[in-house]
Amino acid sequence: MNRWSEAAESLVRGDAEIAALAALAETADTRDFLTAVLGGRYAGRTALVTSFGAESAILLHMVAGIDRGAPVIFLETGKLFPETLAYRDLLIERLGLGDVRSVKPDWGALLAADPAGDLWRRDPDSCCRLRKVEPLERALQGFAVWINGRKRYQTEERSRLPLAERVEGRIKLNPLAHWSAEDVERYFAEHRLPRHPLEVRGYRSIGCEPCTTPTSSDEDARAGRWRGSEKTECGIHFDGNRIVRSQSA
Ligand code: SF4
Repeated sequence: MNRWSEAAESLVRGDAEIAALAALAETADTRDFLTAVLGGRYAGRTALVTSFGAESAILLHMVAGIDRGAPVIFLETGKLFPETLAYRDLLIERLGLGDVRSVKPDWGALLAADPAGDLWRRDPDSCCRLRKVEPLERALQGFAVWINGRKRYQTEERSRLPLAERVEGRIKLNPLAHWSAEDVERYFAEHRLPRHPLEVRGYRSIGCEPCTTPTSSDEDARAGRWRGSEKTECGIHFDGNRIVRSQSA
């Protein structure tokens, strides 16, 4: 997708605001773009959604540098690696993040649908819906904008990811969509950010423990997610650009 194609596409669809945001995200320094978003008309109504995964420290570092009190939503599914929870706590302390909301599933619904905790094996789409999609929808109530860290280089499905989109009435920003793997490495090195403790063990994309395996260097970073199945996304991101509430996510 060339420099202006997202903006032009949005204009054709009649969404000038999305077009303007996409153009700004493409041309501005990413931190400057986030500064404009967090301090602009959506100040106080913008949340960063993060997994505290392998590359999450970048946006967390940028947001903390702009406003340590900015809301950060973290889906604590009940199936995460203990290393991820430790990494969350480390980054909260290191970056001084003041409003990290660890959002848990509705335990009543979970108890009814997943009493043995093995739904991930029997029906991973339903498991993701209960543990991720529905909690995120609840957590995003009241927010007009959410920011996430997906990148085009991660998978073929994400290769056309726009920098800004409108999803179910909210603005969804993907300010790192056009970053390369080299950009990511450079940012970690320049800012001396700590790496996720599982990265040295070959985990390049890190989600829930039962559904994540290490990857080899000749695989996509996300090849270790739901390995052996056709599932590639948890449902909070679908087709690279939609939340699908009704779909088994
Ligand atoms: Fe369940 Fe796996 Fe989805 Fe986590 S990633 S919510 S364990 S199916």
